[in-house]
Amino acid sequence: MRFDNKEFKVDSVSDISIATLCTHTSLQIFHGAKNEGFKTVGIVESKRKWFYESFSNLIDEFIVLNNWRELCRYEVISKLRELNSLLIPHGSFVEYVGLDCVMGLPIPMFGLRELLVVESNQHRKMDLLSKAGITIPKSYKIGERIEGTVIVKLPGAKGGKGYFIANNTSQILSNVNELMRKGYIKDVDDVLIQEYVVGVPAYFHFFHSPVLNRTELLGMDIRYESNVDGLRRLPPSASIDVNPTFNVVGNLPLVLRESMLLTVMKYGINFVNITKSEVPPGIVGPFCLESIINDAGDVVVFEFSGRIVAGTNIYIHGSPYSWLYWNEPMSMGRRIAREIKMAVDLGKLNYVIT
Ligand code: AMP
Repeated sequence: MRFDNKEFKVDSVSDISIATLCTHTSLQIFHGAKNEGFKTVGIVESKRKWFYESFSNLIDEFIVLNNWRELCRYEVISKLRELNSLLIPHGSFVEYVGLDCVMGLPIPMFGLRELLVVESNQHRKMDLLSKAGITIPKSYKIGERIEGTVIVKLPGAKGGKGYFIANNTSQILSNVNELMRKGYIKDVDDVLIQEYVVGVPAYFHFFHSPVLNRTELLGMDIRYESNVDGLRRLPPSASIDVNPTFNVVGNLPLVLRESMLLTVMKYGINFVNITKSEVPPGIVGPFCLESIINDAGDVVVFEFSGRIVAGTNIYIHGSPYSWLYWNEPMSMGRRIAREIKMAVDLGKLNYVIT
């Protein structure tokens, strides 16, 4: 679905306000938008406003909410329209605002809105990766006999929160029942049970440009997760019996062996192509393939994100890879703004918004 809103009138870049929720990667998005000559609108929860106000150089207007779900209220939508806003979804967007609100929001959005629906279902997500010919971990149905160790994932972008490791079916069933009792899961089929891949994590940041008709590998990172990354700090003599957990607390930079880039780039291109056929008109802008690289050098992708990921915050001044394409500081936030700018200049705005 292409966005068709007669009220969204654009003759030049300065007519558009780049808007996003003040969280996740918003500072980077605003910074990039400013660098490319856009106005910016920060949609902020009242309790966080003091922090974002200290970046008055980056944010021109605030829309203040008591909680994120107010985004879909009539007055908020009217204000966004009045400011001729173009929304940039990021990793926390659907999680905080809710899929129903985002899908029905009558505001143009950068990227492929329909992909958010696929992203909200972990099974559909893995299916899309598999159809793209990308190596993925083995997955199991609830109750099925598992081989080896698995990671059990809850629905939604929770930054790894609530995930657990299991070695047998009964352990999975009792933990899932407990999570259902606490209301973290509505339906047992919502959980994803995946082979736990042993290796090193590597998360690849891509940008697909419909304007230039090319896919760029703009950077990569490693997530720093508590407590799994802390466990190795324990001396071998420690006898603490703790289960690994996967709460993301930050991100670390990474460059890859150059010979591995070919596989990664091929995955990125395959992913773009599969979205063109399965979720037309196909992905626009940032996406991330999240992998574990095992000791055989296989890049096993356990997850994708169809929008800007928090790991790109490392590279507000550009990454080693973004320099190869752009030869200037190019963050993912700025790359988004650059694509919109090029689309406006070439009369192709409908290529990049839905
Ligand atoms: P996710 O929410 O799918 O991005 O996963 C959160 C974290 O769990 C990742 O950053 C990894 O550290 C870990 N993880 C997820 N899936 C796997 C897997 N199949 N094998 C090993 N580790 C995984």
